[in-house]
Amino acid sequence: MYWDKAVETLPAGELEALQLRRLRETVARALLSPFYRERLEAAGVTPESIRSLEDVQKIPLTTKDDLRRRGPDFLTVPKTELVRLHASSGTTGQATVIYYTREDIEAWADLVARSMYMTGVRPGDVFQNMMGYGLFTGGLGFHYGGERLGCLTIPAGAGNSARQIQLMRDHGATVIHIIPSYALYLLNHFEALGVDPRDLPLRLAFIGAEPHSEDMRRRIEAAYGLKAFNSYGLSEMNGPGVAFECPEQNGMHVWEDAFLMEVLDPGTLTPAAPGTVGELVFTNLTRRGMPLLRYRTRDLASYDDAPCPCGRRMKRLSRIQGRTDDMIIIKGVNIFPLQIEQVLMSLPEVHTNYLVELSRKNFNDIMTVKVEVREEFFTEDLRQLNALRKRITEALKSELLVTPVVELVEPHTLPAGEGKAVRLVDRRSEG
Ligand code: ADP
Ligand code: ZN
Repeated sequence: MYWDKAVETLPAGELEALQLRRLRETVARALLSPFYRERLEAAGVTPESIRSLEDVQKIPLTTKDDLRRRGPDFLTVPKTELVRLHASSGTTGQATVIYYTREDIEAWADLVARSMYMTGVRPGDVFQNMMGYGLFTGGLGFHYGGERLGCLTIPAGAGNSARQIQLMRDHGATVIHIIPSYALYLLNHFEALGVDPRDLPLRLAFIGAEPHSEDMRRRIEAAYGLKAFNSYGLSEMNGPGVAFECPEQNGMHVWEDAFLMEVLDPGTLTPAAPGTVGELVFTNLTRRGMPLLRYRTRDLASYDDAPCPCGRRMKRLSRIQGRTDDMIIIKGVNIFPLQIEQVLMSLPEVHTNYLVELSRKNFNDIMTVKVEVREEFFTEDLRQLNALRKRITEALKSELLVTPVVELVEPHTLPAGEGKAVRLVDRRSEG
């Protein structure tokens, strides 16, 4: 059940004591970096000034922009002690670079192995890692985790759909790591090859890297005949292995022995209560080469601190609702792409893909939602199609409080890729 039982089931009080000790150690370590020496001295923060976990709030926040501008100034070791670097995918702008020492790589692999083990992966499983290898952390991060656990690890990388299916069949993959939008896209290739993924020995999947809804998970589970677990991480906190679902599939346990999590109200930047959505802020508790203090992820989620039936007390994160940068403000209403997905994926007529386009006409914002409709529902009968379009429009309107223009399109006509899905195109500055 547990990879590291002593840590994973630390009783109340002991986890917090461990965190406080590590927080003070991390502050001491961070003072070795030019960036934090300046920052912490200016704020009057020393390891001794951190007397409780709440004192973390004395530490100034670190932003993506700080990392972009001052990257190497975050190092606490000479460059010769580094053994690897990764960069964020750059989904929302210029990528940030993270450096790792050998101990950092090992500690990270251990967290990923712990995450995989929690869901039921065991030595002997055949693990096909279908994430991009390279600067993106999803590839090598899971690769090292799988090897550490003792899986036969297949570095399939992203894309090349026919080969992915071939690899699964040839080597009897039992576990896969795949981007959720790509998992649905890959089904088209299975269909074209006349292979039913449910006939393969697959039993577990890790899906993460991009926001997705519960219905999307259920669709993937049903189509592949496996259990799919949500996996959260970001390159600034190593990569994958920050928070992961347990067999309960009811929120992602944050590995709090390695990360101190805060959820902050995005407006006031004060702590949000359990169950309230806020911005995730993380502090490394065990990283050597490049510890980050109070890093603002821009990811929005809520947490639950109730004990979990799996025996772990570590807080559970809700699904990531989106990023603060992804929030669409239209006619004064705040909308996240995930809300749109939740509505669409709950409708059986909707195929696997959709795209939201924002445009402006006569100073009015217009939201167009292009929706792929399943072949069998795509009839020539205009009346039926119109009725479906109306139903989707109504469903979206009641969730979003804004009336979108819904366009129905045939399956496989919207752009689909192998990396993180692009669900939103904003053309408002063009018109
Ligand atoms: P980038 O920010 O450029 O995409 P990363 O490759 O480091 O860089 O990706 C990390 C980001 O991916 C997270 O901050 C989050 O926005 C998103 N992400 C990762 N895992 C999940 C998940 N399980 N659900 C939703 N979003 C996720
Ligand atoms: Zn649990």
